[in-house]
Amino acid sequence: MTRTALVTGGTRGIGAAISVALKGAGYTVAANYAGNDEAAAKFTAETGIKTYKWSVADYDACVAGIAKVEAELGPVDILVNNAGITRDGMFHKMTREQWSEVIDTNLSGVFNMTHPIWGGMRDRKFGRVINISSVNGQKGQAGQANYSAAKAGDIGFTRALAQEGARAGITVNAICPGYIGTEMVRAIPEKVLNERIIPQIPVGRLGEPEEIARCVVFLASDDAGFMTGSTISPNGGQFFS
Ligand code: NDP
Repeated sequence: MTRTALVTGGTRGIGAAISVALKGAGYTVAANYAGNDEAAAKFTAETGIKTYKWSVADYDACVAGIAKVEAELGPVDILVNNAGITRDGMFHKMTREQWSEVIDTNLSGVFNMTHPIWGGMRDRKFGRVINISSVNGQKGQAGQANYSAAKAGDIGFTRALAQEGARAGITVNAICPGYIGTEMVRAIPEKVLNERIIPQIPVGRLGEPEEIARCVVFLASDDAGFMTGSTISPNGGQFFS
C-alpha cells in the first residue's frame, strides 16, 4: 500500500520541493501551510498535491488537521516537520514576541505535529519523522538567538525521540540545511548575501531546495532504516559538525 507523507510548510520553498520529491518517489503527499492561500492554490494546481491549512504553533489545530489528513489520505507514515519562520534581531533589541513566535512555530510546532501522530506510528510499528533544523541551530548565528535556540532544540528533540522510537520501527532524524535560495533567504538584502553570506560557503553558492528534498527522500525510504537520531548537514561545507 502507498505510504502517506505529511509535510508542514509544504507549499513553498524547501517544503514544496520536499512535497514534490516525495510524490515523485511514490508517496501520497499532504502539504500543510499557515496562511498563504494563493501560494497553496498555485502549488496544488501545478503539482496535484492536496494542501491543508493550519498553524503548527496551535496544538489543537494540529490534532484536527492531522485527523482530516488521515481521514482523507490514510495514516501518516512519514512526517516532515519543515514549517519555520524567522523573526531576526540582535538580542538587545529582540522582543518577547519575536522570541515566542519563533519558539512556538519552529520548536513547539515540532512537538505539536509529532505528538498526535506518534501513537499511530507506534501501533503500526513503522514511522519516519524528519525534522528540518538549520546550520544556525548547530553553530549559532548573531541576530538569531530565537531561531538558533529553536533549531538546536529540534536537534535535541530528534536525538531523544530517536531512542524512544527505535524499537517501534520509527526513525527520527534531522536535516540541517545551510543557506538555501528560498524566499526566506532572498529576503536578506542582496549586499549581505553576496558580501557576507556566500563567501562563507566553500561551495560558493546557495543550495537548492531540491538538494534538501533528496535527503528527505532518502531518510523516508526503507534504505534508511538503520539511520536514526542522526543529523544530515547539506550546507555547502559551511560548517562541519
Ligand atoms: P519559506 O518561508 O520559503 O516557507 C515556509 C513555509 O512554512 C510556508 O509554506 C509557510 O506557509 C509555512 N509556515 C510558516 N509558519 C507556519 C505555521 N505556523 N504553520 C504551518 N506552516 C507554516 O521557508 P523555507 O523553505 O526557506 O524554510 C523551510 C524550513 O527550512 C524552515 O524550517 C527553515 O527554518 C528551514 N531552513 C531554511 C533555510 C534556508 O536557507 N531557506 C536554511 C536552514 C533551514 P505559508 O505559505 O502559508 O506562509
